[in-house]
Amino acid sequence: MLAKNPRAPRVSCLHALSLTFFASKLAPTEEVGCTVGFRVPKGITMSQDRRYSFEFFPTKTDAGHEKLLATARQLASYNPDFFSCTYGAGGSTRDRTINTVLQLESEVKVPAAPHLSCVGDSKDDLRSLLTQYKQAGIKRIVALRGDLPSGMGMASGELRYANDLVSFIREETGDHFHIEVAAYPEMHPQARNFEEDLQNFVRKANAGADSAITQYFFNAESYFYFVERVKAMGVNIPIVPGIMPITNYSKLARFSDACGAEIPRWIRKQLEAYGDDVKSIQAFGEQVISDMCEQLLQGGAPGLHFYTLNQAEPSLAVWNNLKLPR
Ligand code: FAD
Repeated sequence: MLAKNPRAPRVSCLHALSLTFFASKLAPTEEVGCTVGFRVPKGITMSQDRRYSFEFFPTKTDAGHEKLLATARQLASYNPDFFSCTYGAGGSTRDRTINTVLQLESEVKVPAAPHLSCVGDSKDDLRSLLTQYKQAGIKRIVALRGDLPSGMGMASGELRYANDLVSFIREETGDHFHIEVAAYPEMHPQARNFEEDLQNFVRKANAGADSAITQYFFNAESYFYFVERVKAMGVNIPIVPGIMPITNYSKLARFSDACGAEIPRWIRKQLEAYGDDVKSIQAFGEQVISDMCEQLLQGGAPGLHFYTLNQAEPSLAVWNNLKLPR
């Protein structure tokens, strides 16, 4: 049996990641095929209301795009509720995000949600994207502030925060889109403090968001604490945990250190101890994430959103361990 820490800290900490933005940097280079003996959870009731989704990032090369589509086809056989595709703030992936989303809908035949960020894009840019998506029959959108690549500054764009973007989408398109927003159980890295970050999350819900997807975390209690706090502030939209499979420690640790993401010490230490033993890292990672997802679902999480990094196997290993519906 793999060890797990019975006393993980409550709000484990500080900086959540802008992960999807950096997805390509984290993408594993090897195919992953984890085979750990996860005990089938007994207590999870699979509510019909729960939703499951997979996130991709648009690739730069044709080969990468073909791989993305192959992954999407594999994941489609599990009947997820939707796929989503990230957007490079400032429009750096505009065409690739549009093309990917449209192809996921028309060829892979799974509803697809484009991410859309306001920092660096003008209202006209955003309006034109919204019109294009609406005309293509897209019904869901992930509305974000975004992070501009370094050197591009912060203040370009006419809308400053995600709550401004949510209001803008509602003004422009009424109730056409189901709007998702980002949530940070371990606090957004630029927030002045946890309380203000909670209030800023509430602004997004009040502006008209229908549901939220969290930044990834490795401590279920931080998620439950966040949900409890925003519920007490009157927010009742579903908040779906964003799940990052652990497959490659060095990349994850490097990125997490740079961005201040909290990898609990007991997980970090165990992963470090495996050194270059990729199989053990993957098996341990699969167990840790499956355990956490079990906790989340048993505790009432309204679904799971997998950050696939364009790989099917790590997410499916967790899905199969949990015996999620398909
Ligand atoms: P906001 O909700 O606007 O918050 C940003 C910061 O400003 C926070 O510190 C908040 O406390 C503060 N704030 C918010 N509103 C106000 C206000 N009205 N007044 C004062 N302060 C305020 N990035 C990309 O570039 N492309 C993607 O496709 C992408 N997809 C993502 C998907 C998910 C599920 C998640 C969790 C993140 C994603 N990101 C993506 C990263 C995200 O863009 C960054 O984390 C970004 O720094 C914040 O975006 P936000 O929408 O959460 O911003």
